[in-house]
Amino acid sequence: MQQLYQNKFMKRNRVSLTTLLTGLVSLSVIMTLTILLISSYQSKKQSLFETTLNLNLSNAEKMSQTVDSLFISMRGSLQYNAGIFADITAMDDKDINRHLELMRHSSNYFNSIIIVDETGLVQSVSPQSIGSRGKMIAGAAAKDALASRKPYVSKPYTTTTTGRLIVFMSEPLYDHEGVYRGFIGGTLYLQENNILNMIFGSTSRDDTGSYFYIVGSDGHLLYHPDKERLGEDVSANKVVHKLMQGHSGHEQVVNLKGVNLLAGYSNVPANGWGVVVVSPTSMIYEQLMRHITTIVLYTLPPFAILMLAVVLLARRLAKPFVALANLISTVGTEKFNLPERKRHWNREADLLTEAIILALADYKKERDQLTHDAITDPLTGLMNRRTLDAIMNQWTLEQTPFAIVVLDIDRFKLVNDTYGHQAGDEVLKFLAAAMTAAARSTDVCCRYGGEEFVMLLQHMTDNDAYEAAEKIRQSLEKTRSPIGKPITISLGIAQYPAHADSPDELFHLADQALYQAKESGRNKTVVAGAAMKQHSLNR
Ligand code: GH3
Ligand code: MG
Ligand code: MG
Repeated sequence: MQQLYQNKFMKRNRVSLTTLLTGLVSLSVIMTLTILLISSYQSKKQSLFETTLNLNLSNAEKMSQTVDSLFISMRGSLQYNAGIFADITAMDDKDINRHLELMRHSSNYFNSIIIVDETGLVQSVSPQSIGSRGKMIAGAAAKDALASRKPYVSKPYTTTTTGRLIVFMSEPLYDHEGVYRGFIGGTLYLQENNILNMIFGSTSRDDTGSYFYIVGSDGHLLYHPDKERLGEDVSANKVVHKLMQGHSGHEQVVNLKGVNLLAGYSNVPANGWGVVVVSPTSMIYEQLMRHITTIVLYTLPPFAILMLAVVLLARRLAKPFVALANLISTVGTEKFNLPERKRHWNREADLLTEAIILALADYKKERDQLTHDAITDPLTGLMNRRTLDAIMNQWTLEQTPFAIVVLDIDRFKLVNDTYGHQAGDEVLKFLAAAMTAAARSTDVCCRYGGEEFVMLLQHMTDNDAYEAAEKIRQSLEKTRSPIGKPITISLGIAQYPAHADSPDELFHLADQALYQAKESGRNKTVVAGAAMKQHSLNR
């Protein structure tokens, strides 16, 4: 019961060496692959982020330089023409119009150009189709420009007359005496083809999802791929906020729509505008996933092969130890069988196998010797009394018929006395040899004690046994023994199950028959039944 419990316990809680090694190796291979992927992911992510941020910044810087130069040129153009129109009172309308048309077409800086006198009356406009000539200016920006009497740039605003979203810049007109005569103003139509679109293109989104936009000094959008958003106030955006404070740089930012972006931004010195180049981080993660997928595709097959190889190696490593463990677990059971010594390429396995097999061989030899000693008589090599008892018990249990023959040397004391104990021993061995020679393979020969011997003759009737016993007796009386002349023996026979059922009774009857043989003159064989008959006859 306890054994059963222990076996169950062992099976449930112990992991085999093969499983352990295989598991350990698989785990380390998987961990290595995972670490490789994670570190590759992290380093690639960092480098992609850095590269993108730097690229966006350098692009923003280049564009802000372009915008800066553009603005200086636009301002220069207005200043130059302000000089021409300084004595506007002396010019006729035709000249003024022709000149404005020329100015607008030659540079394409402005979508429209306007000349306003110091009272706010529109003197001339190009293109003339706008039709505001001869009217008073209405827009707040134009009024501001007129009042300021200085170079002026508006924030983006929608005109009340045309409903256009525009940016307006102007240069004051002063005549030769330095009297203020109004201003010359240029307008950018933000939602239509303008100088910014011409320079930067109308679709500013590239195939990686990156794009840029331009904000005015007050944080309103002047240029954006999404035309709907032009003029929108984006000053709440962290990057735009920094631009408005005159900073340039790069950083990761969440825009007003909640999109995570990598932004490079640069301030335009000439007018305080700012250029922002952004790339959505989602696009970088897409790139990262492609990168990781490629790595996995490339590394998986070699890793699978490595894993297979290592698992096989682990199994081979564990094999000798598993074999030893299995061998040792059979020690003491019937399954125990010493295997042939095999060499192992692993030093420890080889040494251990050698040591254990040597130790087990010793153990087996000793055990065999002990077993042999326990069942045999040392002098004659026949079975001893204990073994005989066991065999008789076994045969009666199995109900195997057999005859028991008890043998005793006649006058053996005399042999000892005459020739010495040594010679007596030789005679005992001689008798044992004679018994063994006469026995069949299924018969049992035993030294029961002293100079008394027993034979068990399987499947023999008392008559057959008698014949066999007589053969031995007769051959001995004719054969020279170690003392130089023949010895004689007396024999008593009983048969199972004819005479008795129990081994003890059977032995007792055979012994009685032997006694009869001795009584009636020795060198005789007596069968138990006959002894009893004889006995009853004698009465
Ligand atoms: P009997 O014909 O009545 O059997 O006469 P016996 O002399 O054989 O008488 P008994 O059976 O009484 O004597 C047995 C003798 O066997 C006694 C002992 O000295 C001798 N003996 C017993 N065991 C050994 C032994 O192992 N070696 C030798 N040499 N003698 C033994
Ligand atoms: Mg005796
Ligand atoms: Mg005797």
